[in-house]
This record gives sequence, C-alpha cells and structure tokens, in this order.
Amino acid sequence: MKIMSINSGSSSLKFKLFEMPEEKVITEGVFERITFKEEGIYTIKINGEKIKEFLPLPNHAVAVERLLKDLVDRKIISSLSEIKGVGHRIVQGGKYFDKSVLVDSWAKDRIRELIDLAPLHNGPHLIGIEAFEKALPNVKQVVVFDTAFHQGMEPEAFMYAVPYYWYTDYGIRKYGAHGTSHQFVANEYARLTNQDINKLKIVTCHLGNGCSLCAIENGRCKDTSMGLTPLEGVPMGTRTGNIDPTVVSYIVEKEGKTAWEVVNELNKKSGYLGISGISNDARDLEDAMAEGNERATLAIKIQEKRIADYIGSYYLYLEGIDAIIFTAGIGENAKEYRERICKRLEILGVVIDDEANSQRGYPFRISAPSSKIDVWVVPTNEELVIARDTMRLINE
Ligand code: AMP
Repeated sequence: MKIMSINSGSSSLKFKLFEMPEEKVITEGVFERITFKEEGIYTIKINGEKIKEFLPLPNHAVAVERLLKDLVDRKIISSLSEIKGVGHRIVQGGKYFDKSVLVDSWAKDRIRELIDLAPLHNGPHLIGIEAFEKALPNVKQVVVFDTAFHQGMEPEAFMYAVPYYWYTDYGIRKYGAHGTSHQFVANEYARLTNQDINKLKIVTCHLGNGCSLCAIENGRCKDTSMGLTPLEGVPMGTRTGNIDPTVVSYIVEKEGKTAWEVVNELNKKSGYLGISGISNDARDLEDAMAEGNERATLAIKIQEKRIADYIGSYYLYLEGIDAIIFTAGIGENAKEYRERICKRLEILGVVIDDEANSQRGYPFRISAPSSKIDVWVVPTNEELVIARDTMRLINE
C-alpha cells in the first residue's frame, strides 16, 4: 500500500512516498518558494537521481497537483488510486490531540483554532490538507502532531507560573515540539537494545537547526525543553532559547520596535547566528572555531552548557537516567558536539568511547562499557512515523 507523508511549511511542501508496510521510500522531494513572486523550486528524487525544476508555484494546491501529475507521468505509480492514505505533520495540536487522528471537520477546525499558537505552520498545514482533499477526494488523510507526545506531561511540568487565567483563557502553557522524533528515537533505542520502553528513563536530544530535549519515563514524556512555541529551551541555529522576557521590553524601548519584531529576532537572528555573527549552521561554526574564532566558540559553548543543564535537571526529575540519545542533523552527524556535551556529563558517570563516537549513518552506541548511562546515536525518521500512523489509522 502506498502512503504519502507530507510536511507543509509556510512556503514549502516536503513529501515522501512510502511502500507500506515494507517502509520502503519510493520517492521523495520538496517544493520550495511557494507563493513567492519569483519562481518556485521543485526537487524530486527518483531512483537515487535528483531532478530539479524552476516553475511558478503560486500556492500549495499547485504544488500538490504537479506532484500527483508527476507521479503518474514519470511512472512512479501507475494511477493515483494506488495512494491509499496521506499523512500530514502538524506542528501545533494544543490540548486537543495526544495522538494522531484521521482528518475530519472537527480536526481541521481545531488545527485552525490553533493557528494563533503556530502562525507559520498550522495555516500552511491546513492548506496542504485541503489541497490533497481536492486532488484525492476519496483518500483518507491523517494528522500527526509534533506536540502529541508531550501531552503526557504533568501540570507541574507544563504550567508556567503566570496568572492562572492566562492558562484557562488563552491556553498559555508548555506544548513542546519534535514530539514525533523524541518518541521515535526512544522507542527505537528500546527495540535495538531489547529493553522494555515501559521500564526506561531516557533523555532524548534532538539537535538540528531546531533543538529540543525530552525527559521520558516508561515511554511517556515527563518534560521537554520547548514551550508554548519552539523558542523556549536551549539556544539553536537562529533561536535564542530561554531568556529573561524583560529583554523584549528593553529592546522595544531602546530600538522603537514592536514586541513581535523583537520576538522575531529572538527566533530568526539569535542562537548560533546571533552570537557568532557568522552562520546558523553547526558546520560553519565548527570550522570557525577550529580557526580560533572566539564568538563561534562562545556560541557553541553557550548552547552546550544549556544542553548539559537540561540533562542535569532531567537526571533529578527522572531520578536517574538509563540512556541518553542524540538525534537530528547535529546529534546524528557531529561527533565533536556529542563529545563535548558528554564531557560536561562526566559527573553523572557518562563515559564516551572515542572510536564508537566516530561512527556514522546507523544507530550506534557511543558510550564505553564503563559508562553509567548508555549513550546512543539514533537517526530520527519523522516521515516514517507519519506513514506508520497513517497506515494504522486508515486500516482501523
Ligand atoms: P536538521 O535541522 O536536523 O536538518 O539539522 C541541521 C543542522 O545539522 C545544521 O546545523 C547542520 O550544520 C548540522 N549538520 C548536518 N550535518 C552535519 C555534519 N556532518 N557535521 C556537523 N553538523 C552537521
């Protein structure tokens, strides 16, 4: 059965077509610069070959139509009826969704209601869903939420200590993000090591351009670093992570900006980019650090200190940690980052095996036999989770 996994952003639409239950990727690609005045970019990978095209992409529906036409024209599938389900990644599910669900008008209304909390994402997600509804009216669709896994948190972990009515009237609380990724790599770790997820205390570190950590006990999220939005937590490629909110009003006054303009800078001009002044990319910072660039070094140090702070606090909250898992672009590929973070965790009994830490590509253990905490690298695969959930729900 063929299942399409979709991730729509404000100006992009990523897709991956799976043969299920074999979990084989048939094709994948991305439409970029949708709605831009200039030409859009469409990239599709067929049999390992990347094909790139420039074309007008005024909206997401045009991208979906083009994709479906191409799948048939390029003989990737013989007819559209082969596609049995479409799964969508949704960034914000609020309090409504603690698991994936079939798309219906109630689900769409709730996703719409939550646009305020994720203005750059939930709107485009809905456009993506409706574009597929139009193009494939008889095909069931499923929504998979970045926030669903984090609904397992207790109030003491998800509440902010603010006037209570902010929570009751406006839904101000921690929702977290990257939940699909945290849950996937934790379950993969349990599977790979033949352990019962229901007996494990795990800290997952999703370190990519966006970074978040998650404290997991018995397969349930107990705490996570991202908050109402992905801005909270550790510094990232362009996001600041935690700061004193007074900084916002201070800069508003000093620079005559609006609060939202300042928050935008905390989202897009801070983190690695803000401190280093060079780049939001971990590889560029690593190169600059090797050349002795002090601000690049500082950007990395600030982030790594905060990551270690979170892991230390989760150690207390979980009353011990059985395993730490690194995933996403930096977590999976950057052995220097893993080594430096783990060095800060030596007091918890973490010992890294240098040779093991130099491996690449597959899930692997990087801790030494003497380590008190098992440390692994587990590649994330959010699209696969979407395809699995979609297949399960349309079969139910
Ligand atoms: P993601 O958001 O998961 O795609 O991760 C993007 C981040 O991963 C960027 O900061 C990249 O610099 C970083 N990254 C990807 N590959 C490598 C690598 N081989 N070494 C270091 N960092 C990497």
